[in-house]
Amino acid sequence: MATIKAIRDETPRVRSYTLGLPSWTPHRPGQHYDVRLTAADGYSVQRSYSIASGPETDGEIALTVERVVDGEVSPFLHDVAVVGDRIEVRGPIGGYFVWEATLGGPLLLIAGGSGIVPLMAMIRHRAATASRIPTRLLYSSRAPEDIIYANELRDLEARNDGLEVLHTLTRSQPAGWTGYARRIDDAMLAEVRRPLGDAPLVYICGPTPLVEGAANGLVRIGVSAQRIRTERFGPSGK
Ligand SMILES: Cc1cc2nc3c(=O)[nH]c(=O)nc-3n(C[C@H](O)[C@H](O)[C@H](O)COP(=O)(O)OP(=O)(O)OC[C@H]3O[C@@H](n4cnc5c(N)ncnc54)[C@H](O)[C@@H]3O)c2cc1C
Repeated sequence: MATIKAIRDETPRVRSYTLGLPSWTPHRPGQHYDVRLTAADGYSVQRSYSIASGPETDGEIALTVERVVDGEVSPFLHDVAVVGDRIEVRGPIGGYFVWEATLGGPLLLIAGGSGIVPLMAMIRHRAATASRIPTRLLYSSRAPEDIIYANELRDLEARNDGLEVLHTLTRSQPAGWTGYARRIDDAMLAEVRRPLGDAPLVYICGPTPLVEGAANGLVRIGVSAQRIRTERFGPSGK
């Protein structure tokens, strides 16, 4: 059982939950936990949530959850769960979609929406270990207010330690926006990949259509499929 120690609003539809774990074991950035809710009548439902924090935070993890309209678990976490509640979790789980500084780079991270969560664990781990591995994050959001971890990403990029963050805003952009303003396509992938050379290590996470589109696009522009790891979050690209 985990105890909710803090809840933080990230965007209008996304919240982060700090969970205290009595039997904490360090995770590998990219891994997830399963959260299980059980009703009084025994009905139970389970969903996976990536770990947002790096493994350097002893005894606790952070999960970041987008509220899915008509969902079972994410609306419960948003609307019902409060600090001090205990929730059933199991993890850390997963051994494929993981990155540690010892795996090297250069690193190309591609996220759509809440798909940023496991990539943020990698970015936080990279910062905590003072890694200078060249890293570019291409992050697709609908609108500026939907960018999760916006301030932290800005601060980490300002350290000038080899992390660059490139946003694409697909539905609305603020006045004077100079970033990308369209869905990820091959031309965008080629531009973002170019400074990293021919063989970056790539992690892609988000809705299935974004993940498949970006992975196929990278292969088309010459990145070896063996260097690409993907994680799909949901059944839809809504
Ligand atoms: C390995 C893994 C890691 C994940 N990590 C995260 C994470 O860090 N943060 C996070 O917010 N989610 C994450 N997810 C997604 C999460 O597990 C749930 O699928 C999501 O929270 C919806 O669950 P729910 O019970 O609220 O909705 P459900 O009851 O499962 O679904 C309700 C309705 O919403 C649709 N739907 C389900 N999931 C999505 C979605 N992702 N986007 C749009 N529509 C959807 C369904 O088709 C259905 O119509 C992860 C999934 C996997 C497999």
